Amino acid sequence: MRWIVAVLLVIVLAVAALWGFGIVSLGPKEVPVPDLFAVLEDGDANAVASALEEGANLNVRNSAGLTPFMAAVSANAPNSVLDALVAAGAAVNEQAANGATALTLAAEHGGPSQLIYLLNAGADPTLGNADGQTAIDLAAANRQLVGTGVESRLNEFRTLTFVADWPSAYLVPVEGATISSRRNHLPGAPRAYRNGVHEGFDFYNGTVSVNIGYGTPINAVADGVVIRADHGYQDPSMADYDAMITEAARSLDTPPEILDALRGRQVWIRHAGGFVSRYAHLAAVAEVAQEGAVVRQGDIIGTTGNSGTLEAAQGTQDDPHPHVEVWNEAGFLGSGLEPEEIWDLAAQVFGRAALPPYHD
Ligand SMILES: [Zn+2]
Repeated sequence: MRWIVAVLLVIVLAVAALWGFGIVSLGPKEVPVPDLFAVLEDGDANAVASALEEGANLNVRNSAGLTPFMAAVSANAPNSVLDALVAAGAAVNEQAANGATALTLAAEHGGPSQLIYLLNAGADPTLGNADGQTAIDLAAANRQLVGTGVESRLNEFRTLTFVADWPSAYLVPVEGATISSRRNHLPGAPRAYRNGVHEGFDFYNGTVSVNIGYGTPINAVADGVVIRADHGYQDPSMADYDAMITEAARSLDTPPEILDALRGRQVWIRHAGGFVSRYAHLAAVAEVAQEGAVVRQGDIIGTTGNSGTLEAAQGTQDDPHPHVEVWNEAGFLGSGLEPEEIWDLAAQVFGRAALPPYHD
């Protein structure tokens, strides 16, 4: 009898010891957290997204000191994989011990599409590695990038100051257009008739280097997902328009629902890095621009109109113009800035070619 008790005691102590060292588990079985580096090897965006949902850690480092995001860039993962990581909160500008960033790694070995993705997700082109080389320097030695548009966009940062939290490889929304230098066409301009402030860039004929007319195509400024597409929009009557302006004029600011109505028919696109572009006063929305649809940089998402304006309420096609806004989490591009400062920031976002020398 005594030896049975002794054997049982030994078994209990042995199990307790194994449990203490974590070799056996007596509680509910724990689900192992996926290893993101292993999941990344397949280059499958859906697998990466589910690993992140299961709690995979974005902030670990591999033996080379890279975060999963840097490792994905380094392994030339498709942009959809990078997007899954960014959407889950991967820090785009994280640096390895030697100063390398996702962007310097891409500039060294990647192609144009990867570079454009990173710049538009908010990557800082002026950060350097331990040798003092930035993505600008590295791109100049990468045969995949030399002579491409993205190499010249990077080169602009030799003299342009990078403003954090904004993208830097967007296209202008009308092919070949420049940004109007009229104060009234820029974000931040007062709008006395509705007691408010202008939140976007206006592209009126005669001020943007290309002809703008009713029906002029408008393109997506960057890759993204359509989050609003007013296919079924109807212009307000003159009476409704008057009522909105009267209401706005007696408010301290333009009420949000009135401001929204005054932008007329719209498309909104969400981009990597949490940026959103809004296209207003459209005459029509393109078929490809359906809510939830993925659109590519340069895709035509609608045509120029005057919806939401007085001229539309009057039943005319007068004064058509694209009105385009870019937002980050803090506000609209250009908010709180002087025209010259908006000019420099717009040069970063849309490229120098879109910004002739500023004049008021
Ligand atoms: Zn406008």
